[in-house]
Amino acid sequence: MAANIEPKIAAAAAELTAIRRDIHAHPELGFEEERTSRIVAEKLKEWGVEVTTGIGKTGVVGTIRVGNNPRAIGLRADMDALPMDEHNTFEHRSAHKGRMHACGHDGHTTMLLGAAKYLSATRNFDGTVHFIFQPAEEGRGGAEAMVKDGLFEKFPCEQIFGMHNRPKLDVGKFAIRPGPQMAGGGLFDIHITGKGAHGARPETGIDPVIIATQIISALQSVVSRSIAPLDSGVISVTQMHAGDAYNVIPNEAVLRGTIRAFRKETMALIKERIETISTGIARTLGGTAKPDVRIAFPPLVNDYDSVQFIADVAETIVGKENMNREGPYVMASEDFSYMLEKVRGAFINIGNGGGEGGCEVHNPGYDFNDEIITLGATLWSRVVETKLAKDAR
Ligand SMILES: [Zn+2]
Ligand SMILES: [Zn+2]
Repeated sequence: MAANIEPKIAAAAAELTAIRRDIHAHPELGFEEERTSRIVAEKLKEWGVEVTTGIGKTGVVGTIRVGNNPRAIGLRADMDALPMDEHNTFEHRSAHKGRMHACGHDGHTTMLLGAAKYLSATRNFDGTVHFIFQPAEEGRGGAEAMVKDGLFEKFPCEQIFGMHNRPKLDVGKFAIRPGPQMAGGGLFDIHITGKGAHGARPETGIDPVIIATQIISALQSVVSRSIAPLDSGVISVTQMHAGDAYNVIPNEAVLRGTIRAFRKETMALIKERIETISTGIARTLGGTAKPDVRIAFPPLVNDYDSVQFIADVAETIVGKENMNREGPYVMASEDFSYMLEKVRGAFINIGNGGGEGGCEVHNPGYDFNDEIITLGATLWSRVVETKLAKDAR
């Protein structure tokens, strides 16, 4: 990797790798990151960083203030693991059944720790940096919990940045895009009630299975007919439950599924269409439907200036050719979007390597690449030193 890694961070590579592997071996699920947040708090204190614990239950915020410039920025990493078994056999594999760092949050935590260590030792900036170690990113609402716990009132930030490792993006490369970058996501349940009957005498009942299938068909029109062709969205019905017997028309049926979109307005439109279509079709066929559509994550939208800023900084480290400013849209969701709804900022991807066909995140064979820890920590450090440059007052 031909990158301008900060020498003081490069010198800490072995120490940081050991921290990363220790966290990897002891994964904890959302809001249960007791051990991880304790390690984070202990390391920060050891390095002379002011520490606040218990923000959003297991969240930790480290703060370094230099000079009396009132400006402040936030850097965020997530700490939680996934509820799955790890299939790797290397020494730092998960020591716990049913828990695994398969999304690289162990690496995110370590890269941010590496930056905190360096910035606390060098203090070559003027202003305040908050290191935000967030719990429970994987669908358990950690970002929202920290925000509701007063994160940005207690630690005001004029701008915030987040980073995620990306498999198949080469080591030494970064990618980002201005505007919507990752989809918002939601879940839905539709409870359909008809009237049970003998399977041979359908005229005496109201068949909820027929209602369910008509609803599924009609939902296919939402993306194709209600969403503008240049916008995008997904509605996937992933569960369908009804009946127990060959010869009984059941009383009820249940549909469940997931929705995705890149714009808040589109998420709202999808929610409205699911509600209207399901209740309308059920009524037409003589039954009832109770839809419950829950938006779990807003879309992740990057601020244009923040994207150009962090991309400019990254270019000084990896060169123009390794900074993709028109990175891909990602249909997956990321709850840093909650923080970006409160404070402008950007979310950048750092290449984890692996090439085409490489292991994807959320796979039992995944592992964060230790080779990129110092690169990520260097980017975080340069973001602070550039944004809060001493001569920029
Ligand atoms: Zn994940
Ligand atoms: Zn993740």
